[in-house]
Amino acid sequence: MASLPAVLALVAQWIERLASNQEAPGSIPGEGASARQGSPPAKIRKGGACPPKPRRRRGAAPLKTAKEPGEKHRLEPYFNFGGRKFLIPMKKNEIKTVHQFGRYELIGPVKLPLKISNGKVSDFTIWYFAFPGGQYAALVKGNPSKVKKPLVRVESVCIWAHFFGSQYCDCGWQLDEAKRRIDEEKNGLIIFAFEQHGKAVGLRNHFIVYAEGQRRGHELVVDAYTSLGFDEDYRKHYGDVADILKHFGIKNIRLMSNNPNRIALLKKAGISVERVPHEVPLNHYNKTEMISKKVKLGHLLTLKKKNGKRFS
Ligand SMILES: [Zn+2]
Repeated sequence: MASLPAVLALVAQWIERLASNQEAPGSIPGEGASARQGSPPAKIRKGGACPPKPRRRRGAAPLKTAKEPGEKHRLEPYFNFGGRKFLIPMKKNEIKTVHQFGRYELIGPVKLPLKISNGKVSDFTIWYFAFPGGQYAALVKGNPSKVKKPLVRVESVCIWAHFFGSQYCDCGWQLDEAKRRIDEEKNGLIIFAFEQHGKAVGLRNHFIVYAEGQRRGHELVVDAYTSLGFDEDYRKHYGDVADILKHFGIKNIRLMSNNPNRIALLKKAGISVERVPHEVPLNHYNKTEMISKKVKLGHLLTLKKKNGKRFS
């Protein structure tokens, strides 16, 4: 028979094993003391072999875990905002540049030296805005709220001109010229609307408009749209743009634009607008679009060449 001290030592060992969740040497994993007591070992183990389960954040969809063998648990969290899914970093509380303001999310600032069309490089601060209806970038120069009526440009993204440098439309020139003029004044703001591609027809549809419009021999501003059953312009609300301006403390602007519809919609959204003409010099490449804009869309254009003469 074992002596009392030996029995006590055995009991102490057994308690120690239970506390450290270790199976007794030689026992089958999962069939140790804890298993025999009817509890799943993984649930009572502290710091055991099972990896911790990812926590689900408020507002986030369930976290997905990769199942490839050997791969570490890879989390793909995303944040639902206005029906969109945005991937977000895991440790959200470490992110200091993402902010929520009422109905929009703001990310920034991002400071970048931007190339200006006159060859200069100018420092701008860029912010990202996400509204339920769209995503925007705001390119800020100086402190526009300190100016009585800062110079502002609202730009709808155009893949042809802004990314590829197309000369068919005036989008590229207008962005370059807006940056140049704002840099010259040292204060101002450009709002870039990502969801308003091709007058908000969308990227894919804009490809269809251009490809099919060219195949059918249509001009690409109005006829290519309407012949395919699209509206000629889907931009009906400028509430998001007005909110971005108000975020920067701006309610009175000088807007670089030739589009009377845009001016009217901004006024309707509560912004006081003074128009500044923003017209590309007419040339062989852009004359079809520019004439269509004036004749069919009522844009405020003089249709003059660089030398000030009318195109013949
Ligand atoms: Zn364009």
